[in-house]
Amino acid sequence: MRCPVCGHEESKVLDSRPVVDGRAIRRRRECLDCGRRFTTYERPDLAPLMVVKRDGRREPFDRAKVLGGILRACGKRPISMEALEQLVDDVEHAVRRAGAQEVASALIGDLVMERLRRLDDVAYVRFASEYRRFQDVDSIAEEIETLKERKRREDALRDQVPLITLPDTHATR
Ligand SMILES: [Zn+2]
Repeated sequence: MRCPVCGHEESKVLDSRPVVDGRAIRRRRECLDCGRRFTTYERPDLAPLMVVKRDGRREPFDRAKVLGGILRACGKRPISMEALEQLVDDVEHAVRRAGAQEVASALIGDLVMERLRRLDDVAYVRFASEYRRFQDVDSIAEEIETLKERKRREDALRDQVPLITLPDTHATR
């Protein structure tokens, strides 16, 4: 692995460990010439996944591009870069698991939205408004209302759980 600083071809591996879920290996390396340390990632070399865009054109799935779109929506929200990298990994994995060589860009957008919603409401609405190209303020308001409603239902469901799992101690007294 060529040193990114001096170009020397030999380096030694200092540390090697799987990234989050084991889909990549992260290696810390040290250049044997200049001594600089750098990081490399090793991922499986899979057949390119093609994305079919709205206008029918195809282009290779591009992690950086998907991540860029999400980053724009996230702005200054308190979401770690690691969580976002993980999100993109999840989306790519979900598509590949389905076994398709081609995927509609709309499906990728849906998968991103589904996961972003669990991470951050604001980023989700921003991404959805960009991606779905809302026609007007009303449709954005509608989306936010749907989101609130879904949250209310999820909260209600969570509140019910302790009631369901509590042992029935009263009956024995
Ligand atoms: Zn070097």
